[in-house]
Amino acid sequence: MKLALAGIGKIAIDQHVPALKASGDWDLAATFSRHGRVEGVPGYTDFSALLSERPDIEVVSLAMPPVPRFDYARMALEAGRHVMLEKPPGATLAEVHALEKIAASNGLTLFATWHSRMAKGVAAAKSWLAGKTVRSAAIVWREDVRHWHPGQDWVFEPGGMGVFDPGVNALSILTEILPLSVHLTAAELDFPANRQTPIAARLTFTGNASADFDWRQEGPQTWDITIATDAGTLVLRMGGNVLEIDGRAVEGDDSIMGEYPALYAHMTRLVEEGRSDVDLSPMIHVADALTLGRRNSVEPFEWSAAQ
Ligand code: NAP
Repeated sequence: MKLALAGIGKIAIDQHVPALKASGDWDLAATFSRHGRVEGVPGYTDFSALLSERPDIEVVSLAMPPVPRFDYARMALEAGRHVMLEKPPGATLAEVHALEKIAASNGLTLFATWHSRMAKGVAAAKSWLAGKTVRSAAIVWREDVRHWHPGQDWVFEPGGMGVFDPGVNALSILTEILPLSVHLTAAELDFPANRQTPIAARLTFTGNASADFDWRQEGPQTWDITIATDAGTLVLRMGGNVLEIDGRAVEGDDSIMGEYPALYAHMTRLVEEGRSDVDLSPMIHVADALTLGRRNSVEPFEWSAAQ
């Protein structure tokens, strides 16, 4: 299928383009971006022109940040194209519901992707947990924002979600693998005094589940989920790519490069089967944390640590 990739920035270049180029199912036929380009691929800077001049393109994959994404998604669906949304699927829950309705009424596929659900240990973790009694679940997701989002001011603007931008990846895994559903009961959010979104968050859920997100982690980075059950302890490390059970590695390795090929393979199946896949449960936890959370004001954040 011919596909247009929109929003040529960090994730488009790091993951989408290599996944598309390596796939036999997809032809990266055009890009839309105001500044970004992919060598050898026709680039548009006007999204309406892309849609009107390229009726051969069946699928549009949107990789820009969440706040501007809705308008592009709506235009693509209204122009009869299937749509893939980067995570988190929107700036608000209501706008994603609106997109679902437009897709359904036009008979189109909408795929709200969660790349971390495609990490190598996640499916095996889900099957191991099925039928077991969960005693506790603890997420620790601590990374250095200056390394992973260099200069990306949108993450600290309203709708950028701050530390929930990576944190929602952990929540996408938790909501996929836990054999019980949990909901948030308390949250503590650390907002830099000069920013609009939190740089750290500590969440408490029913089911003895918790999450510790922090974007100020220098040195070793941690993306772990530990789940204690009546039949042993499961740990997912490296953002879900390595699975350990009772201290023994049973699945995966530390590469994240399989996630986007798996997302595009799933999109192929969804289009072929005429289905959508929109699960907002990870984002509901983020919205709940921002609704219920206690707000602390912490040190101002600047991109250069020296400032
Ligand atoms: P980014 O590099 O800051 O942005 C991607 C591109 O979006 C930009 O280069 C820009 O291209 C376009 N864009 C920015 N603001 C726009 C606007 N107002 N209207 C239209 N286009 C706009 O961000 P990113 O890191 O790739 O993240 C994008 C999405 O992918 C986010 O939802 C993020 O959560 C998700 N994601 C990121 C990562 C990661 O490691 N960075 C990993 C997984 C998922 P032009 O200026 O050329 O239009």
